[in-house]
Amino acid sequence: MTMTAAAAFPTASSICLETDMKTIKELIRESLTEVAATRDINRQNNISRIYKQFPDLKDIDDQILEVRNSRFIAVIDKDERLIKRFDIAEEELQAKREKIIARNNIEPDFDEEKFICDKCEDTGFTKGSDGTVKVCSCRKNELESCYEQSGMADYSSYKMKNYRDDYLGNGAGRKKLKNELLKVMLGLDEGDNRSPLCVFSAPPQSGKTFLAIVVCKTAINLGKSAYYAKCEELATLGTDTLEALKHIDFLIIDDFADTVTLYNNVGSVLNTILETRAASGLNTVLVTPFPVSELERKCDMRISGKLQSAKKITSEGR
Ligand SMILES: [Zn+2]
Repeated sequence: MTMTAAAAFPTASSICLETDMKTIKELIRESLTEVAATRDINRQNNISRIYKQFPDLKDIDDQILEVRNSRFIAVIDKDERLIKRFDIAEEELQAKREKIIARNNIEPDFDEEKFICDKCEDTGFTKGSDGTVKVCSCRKNELESCYEQSGMADYSSYKMKNYRDDYLGNGAGRKKLKNELLKVMLGLDEGDNRSPLCVFSAPPQSGKTFLAIVVCKTAINLGKSAYYAKCEELATLGTDTLEALKHIDFLIIDDFADTVTLYNNVGSVLNTILETRAASGLNTVLVTPFPVSELERKCDMRISGKLQSAKKITSEGR
């Protein structure tokens, strides 16, 4: 009657977000108590089911418990002769027990705790053959609710598998854009002029937002903390969320335009976020329908300066 060792759970990132915005690691960690309780309930149910079906097994197990209790008292009394007698008694009972189990084809570990999900052993994360850690398929609910809390509530149908590389007959271009954005998200963009800020510029109606969202979702799926916001939302997001945006692993700001930075204090808010994130080497992507050169000329001065040294991802013809 051994208990399975609790599987190690990856430690949550050092930031603790006291907002409605929770990271996938936090959401999964919060559910672990419930998962453990479910495992225990499953175990109890399994035991009562087997005992009901095989009352003689229950009887033996009751006797084993009784012998163990008596032996415990004998140990306290230091009564070696009695201890020996109880040891022999338990051995005999165990032999009987094994016979009942074998004869009736009962699972030998019917009274042990079992993982609810064997794939991730209830940690919520699986490791692929290439070493990539991903949220397990058993945590779809947590994943969906994390997408919602990370600025993507309106985009539940946006999925990476629906991103068409060959949309509008520009296969190579679209695939390249996707891979470049993924590399930025993963921090794999090589080169000497590596910048934590990236500007992704493509014409209107070219699927920028779709791509931005599926890359942001991929980040969360890989256990990162990530957020998607429209640039103008920076004027209305709560202070807790704005504070969180400074520290999450990956941030995408969509519909970035020079005019947006000039009103409602957006330029100042964005500037602070970008500076804090750059200092920690955290990647931020600004998504815009405008050419970068135009933005550099017209933006809030502080943002303009940052755009100049940013990494640029542009669609063909930009
Ligand atoms: Zn799982």
